[in-house]
Amino acid sequence: MRSVGDHRAAVAALVPRRRTVDLPPEAAVGLPVARDVAAPISLPPFTNSAMDGYAVRAADAAAGAVLPVAFDVPAGRTDVPALPPGAACRIMTGAPVPDGADAIVPVERTDGGVERVRIDEAPEPGRFFRASGSDIEAGEVALHEGERIGPATVGLAAALGLRTVRVLAPLHVAVLSTGSELVEPGTPLLPGQIYESNAPMLASALREAGATAEVLRFVADHPDELLGRLAERLGAGDVDLVVTSGGVSAGAFEVVKEALASRGVEFAKVAMQPGMPQGCGTVGFDGGARVPFVTFPGNPVSALVSFEVFLRPALRAAMGLPDRSRRSARLAGPVDSIPGKRQYLRGRLTPEDDGTDSVSVIGGPGSHYLRWLAQADCLLDIPADVKHLAGGEAVDVIVLDH
Ligand code: AMP
Ligand code: MG
Repeated sequence: MRSVGDHRAAVAALVPRRRTVDLPPEAAVGLPVARDVAAPISLPPFTNSAMDGYAVRAADAAAGAVLPVAFDVPAGRTDVPALPPGAACRIMTGAPVPDGADAIVPVERTDGGVERVRIDEAPEPGRFFRASGSDIEAGEVALHEGERIGPATVGLAAALGLRTVRVLAPLHVAVLSTGSELVEPGTPLLPGQIYESNAPMLASALREAGATAEVLRFVADHPDELLGRLAERLGAGDVDLVVTSGGVSAGAFEVVKEALASRGVEFAKVAMQPGMPQGCGTVGFDGGARVPFVTFPGNPVSALVSFEVFLRPALRAAMGLPDRSRRSARLAGPVDSIPGKRQYLRGRLTPEDDGTDSVSVIGGPGSHYLRWLAQADCLLDIPADVKHLAGGEAVDVIVLDH
C-alpha cells in the first residue's frame, strides 16, 4: 500500500502551473499579478492644487496684498490659460495649476473674494502643489509580479487607465461523478437509487479552496459513457484538472478504473481510512494536451476526506495560499484506530478554560455518514501505527474552518 505522503506527492506533481488571463482589475481581486506592469501615465497626470483657494505668484502675494481674480479653475477644466503677472485665479482641489503660478493660497487664508482677493498670509512657493508624477512617474512599476490584487490595487490600476490586468488565473477543475445508482435532485428515487451528492460537494470544496470548478453531468457505470463525457468537455483545452468520484475500488463495474487505467491513470491503495482506493495521472483526448486526473472513491466521506488530504494542499500550494491549519487537541474520550492505516476521523473541537482544545469524535467511521461530516469542524489525523488512544491524549487535528 502507498502511504498518504507518497500519494499526496503524486497528486501535487500533477497540479499544473496557472494560466495567465487578462481581467478587468475589479474582476481580479485576490489573484496575483502575472508580471510587472509599468505605469502608462504619471499620477497625478498634471500638477494640480491640493486645496480650494487661489493660485498666485508668491512674489505678488505678500500678506495684505489685494490681487485681481483673472479667472476660475474648477476641477475638470481642460483649457486653463497662463496666470497673468500680478493676478490670482480661483482654483479648486484637483484642478490644474495654471502656468505662471508657483503657490496656492488656501481660501481660509484670504477674504474669499470673487473679483478681487485679499491675501491674509503669504504663501510658501510650491506648497499645496500636487506635482505631476509625485505619486508615480510614467514607466515606473505600478503593479508588481506576484502581488495580489486588492481594492487599492484596483484603484491604482483604474487611476492609470488600465482596463485589464494580467493575473494568474485560478486553476479550473471539472468534477465528474460516476455511478448507475445516481439520479438528480427533483427526480423521485426508485429503490436502489440515490441522489448525486459528490460533485456539488467537491465543486464547493474546490471553490472554497480558491479554484474555479464546473460540474459535468454524471455518468452511469459504462466506460464508453465516461470517456464520451470527458472527450466532449476536454477538447477545448481550458480544464486544468479533472476530479472524478466513484468507480475506483475493487468491485465489478469500476468504471473509472476500467476506462482510465490503460490511458495513463495509476490506481493505488493508500494506507488510510476513509479513502483507500485512489488514482491519479494524466489522460490525453484526441491528440490534445494531456489533462491531469485525480480519482476519488465514491463514498461521500471518502471523497471529501480525499480532497482535504490530497488535493487541497496541492491546490493551495500551487496558488501560493496557506493550507488548513493544524493543531494539537486533547481527546475527550478513547479512540480505537485500524493499525496500518492513517485514520481521519470526524471531530468537534471545544475550547477549554486553559486555552487548549479538546476534541470529540462524532459519528462512526462509516464512509457514508454525511451528516456527521457536515457537523464536523475538524478531522482527527491518527497516525498509521496507532491502535488505541486514551481520553486526554493529544491528537493532531486539521481545522475545517469555512
Ligand atoms: P463507489 O466508489 O463507486 O464504489 O461508490 C461507493 C459508495 O459511494 C456507494 O455506496 C455509492 O452509491 C456511493 N456514491 C458513489 N458516488 C456517489 C455520488 N456521486 N454521490 C453520492 N454517493 C455516491
Ligand atoms: Mg460506483
